[in-house]
Amino acid sequence: MLVEKVEEYLERIEKNKDLNAFIEVQKDRVLEEAKKLEKDDKAKRKPLYGKIIAVKANINVEGYTISCASKTLENYVAPYNATVIEKIIENGGLIIGITNMDEFACGSSGETSYYGPTKNPKAKDRIPGGSSSGSAAAVSAGLCDIALGSDTGGSIRNPSSHCGVSGFKPSYGVVSRYGLCDLAMSFDQIGPIADNSKDLMLMMNIIKGEDLKDTTTVNIPELKEKDINNFKVGVVEEFLEVADDKIREKVERAIEIFKDLGCEIVNLKYKYLDLALPTYYLINYVEFFSSTRRYDGRRYGYRIEEVCGEEVLRRIIIGSMISQKEYSGKYYKNALKARNLLRKEMIRIMKDVDIVVSPTVPKLPHKLGEKLSPMDMYSYDVLTVLANICGIPAGSVPCGAINKIPVGLQIMAKPFEDEKVLNAMIAFENQFGGLNDE
Ligand code: GLN
Repeated sequence: MLVEKVEEYLERIEKNKDLNAFIEVQKDRVLEEAKKLEKDDKAKRKPLYGKIIAVKANINVEGYTISCASKTLENYVAPYNATVIEKIIENGGLIIGITNMDEFACGSSGETSYYGPTKNPKAKDRIPGGSSSGSAAAVSAGLCDIALGSDTGGSIRNPSSHCGVSGFKPSYGVVSRYGLCDLAMSFDQIGPIADNSKDLMLMMNIIKGEDLKDTTTVNIPELKEKDINNFKVGVVEEFLEVADDKIREKVERAIEIFKDLGCEIVNLKYKYLDLALPTYYLINYVEFFSSTRRYDGRRYGYRIEEVCGEEVLRRIIIGSMISQKEYSGKYYKNALKARNLLRKEMIRIMKDVDIVVSPTVPKLPHKLGEKLSPMDMYSYDVLTVLANICGIPAGSVPCGAINKIPVGLQIMAKPFEDEKVLNAMIAFENQFGGLNDE
């Protein structure tokens, strides 16, 4: 029964408060909504009926505080639903609460929230990854069935990898960004996190599609489960080289699993990987600076520069500098050229393969509280930012554990071949025995 299930989840959320996965849960409202759904016979036939869903604190859900985990917006109550939320409600889903995140989605560790860091349920002294830290942690601890995150440079895949769950970033334009607070709008996509990839496909079929409120959106056909036994799987030496040896080992074992599944392995080379991080962060700074100009203290909450954390301020200051006319030829335009180059190179290597596999994150999550330099923090993203730079679909699926700390396998495909990524994730999960620990 739905109400009973919801009560159980609410209790579990209460018991796991130390994880700091949720920022806001309105118990009475959630129970009320569950009762209404349970009484509604039509709702019971809808695809998301019975699914309990958590939402990252940068996606508008009417009546909830959508703070982006920043003091700037601590009193901002969403007056409307993002398109993805409308679709979830229409399809019978129940939203249980709003999850913690890095402030304005700027981060890879889940430590920069105004509400304090999230813990990793699978390794409590470690970071959960970010920026969708609360969403991945909530799924990992069984506090919801599916969570929504946003991914600008890896924020769905990185915490999914560290928390031992599955996460998917759609091709750019497949899911509406209407109602998502921008980090860098030419990279941002909303996507699902779950403990199995079939649920990712289920959620993608609900939230995808053209939306008149977001002119970058397109329609793709319904995503269906299909065999992958004739897939060509690309393996890029440069993507393996940047990972720690133990992580590389796990990925090499995952490649063997694709062979067992009947796939053909194709060795590939990717030039310019060294350009990925500088290109991503330059564009990110400029777009983020521009999108934060609305937080001027008049319309929404506080003036951002007066209350935000160190990382957000760093991006605003550098973003404002490189946006100045006299510098634009030097930084931003070069970054756009590099973006083009990286995209062309990706399309070139993917020409004759169905998917490309790699580690999701090149190293294990650090201990909570350990101080990293900005450069070290950014280097977590070296393998995830490419999918955002190129606009391609990418997912992360668990492929093992090292001293009980989960490791994720990243799977990418050509633009709009989201179905191939999801089917490869489903097939891999079925074949792989779970999080083994050596
Ligand atoms: N870690 C990356 C950044 O800080 C990605 C963040 C994200 O995807 N939202 O920009």
